[in-house]
Amino acid sequence: MREHEEAWCKVYSAANALEAHSLTGLLHTHRIEAQTRGESLSAAAGELPANVVEVSVWVRVSQHTQARAVLQDYEQAAEREWQCPQCGEDNAGSFEICWQCGAEHPSL
Ligand SMILES: [Zn+2]
Repeated sequence: MREHEEAWCKVYSAANALEAHSLTGLLHTHRIEAQTRGESLSAAAGELPANVVEVSVWVRVSQHTQARAVLQDYEQAAEREWQCPQCGEDNAGSFEICWQCGAEHPSL
């Protein structure tokens, strides 16, 4: 008998393993227990293209609401464009540095 094994639930379907890993790391910084699932399928499936395999982020059921809030902030930040203070180029919110000149995001 397992002791205090709380159920996990899926909180996010990532575009790829890299995104799933960065989101898992983000959740950890918010003290939310999180794990990535689905990657092992790509090795097992072998012939399938990588993008067919779904990579998802899972959290404890009790932390699902909290995790959703963190991920919503992440999604909104990714959509927010920012203007480079150095060269004036508009960058997508997911970029941490200016794609044009390499200057850092002004809020970092
Ligand atoms: Zn720039």
